[in-house]
Amino acid sequence: MEAPSSQSGPPAESVRLDLRGRAVLVTGAGSGIGRACALRLAEAGARVHLADIDAEAVKEAADAAGGTAHVADLTDEAAVAALPDAIDVLVNNAGVQHVAPVEAFPPERFRRMHALMVHAPFLLLRRALPHMYASGWGRVVNISSVHGLRASPYKAAYVSAKHALEGLSKVVAAEAAPHGVTSNCLCPGYVRTPLVERQITDQADVHGIAEGEVTESVLLRRSPIKRLAEPEEVAEAVAWLCTPHTGYLTGASISLDGGWTAT
Ligand code: NAD
Repeated sequence: MEAPSSQSGPPAESVRLDLRGRAVLVTGAGSGIGRACALRLAEAGARVHLADIDAEAVKEAADAAGGTAHVADLTDEAAVAALPDAIDVLVNNAGVQHVAPVEAFPPERFRRMHALMVHAPFLLLRRALPHMYASGWGRVVNISSVHGLRASPYKAAYVSAKHALEGLSKVVAAEAAPHGVTSNCLCPGYVRTPLVERQITDQADVHGIAEGEVTESVLLRRSPIKRLAEPEEVAEAVAWLCTPHTGYLTGASISLDGGWTAT
């Protein structure tokens, strides 16, 4: 049998995971990484709640996963408060990007990105942790980014929000440890999703290069593995973090970046 190559994409097999009887909430589940996580955790037998601002997308994803769609703008505290709180696995995934130099970065956009990517995870954790503590088991998986660990120019709101999410994840790891609950960050490099596709035009503009050059010259410049990751590869890491084998793994930031942060 030919050995799988990291350059050519993920294999079809997945880790063994049984989440029957568990409830999962995935934010930003209408697209990309969140959708892949919802499908993967549903496949493991969980009752999956999918939250997203995009009504059509989240309903389609919920149908595909056999889960429940919640149309919610996570920057709206009342919408967050209406989401289920009896949750065993919380995947804080919803996020957006905006590319501009600091001096031109719209303050309202900065505030909204922090509301979505830091404040909403905090509010969801406040609601979900009591249920996890009561049952003595829980998993918090925060979809951070290489940009939770490193900076890139023109991403003031994104980089600062992801760094804040990293800190929040570690505090939860420290508080939740006695209750059988782990909290970790996954830090992907560039993943093939609409968020990245939308960025290519913006990156071409701010760097003054052609769109065709962006993937190689900007996105994958630091990565030894010269391809984008697939959403399913992130979802598989989330699944692994929900297995019994990872009960000792908490407060960690796991790079899933093709070697970017190693260089
Ligand atoms: P995506 O654009 O495909 O999906 C994001 C989802 O979030 C969309 O369905 C969108 O409707 C939803 N969303 C946006 N604003 C919302 C709001 N106010 N309320 C509720 N839902 C909202 O993006 P993706 O690439 O799958 O990104 C998912 C997460 O992964 C993000 O946190 C992102 O920062 C992170 N990430 C992505 C990459 C990448 O290369 N794609 C790399 C590292 C980290």
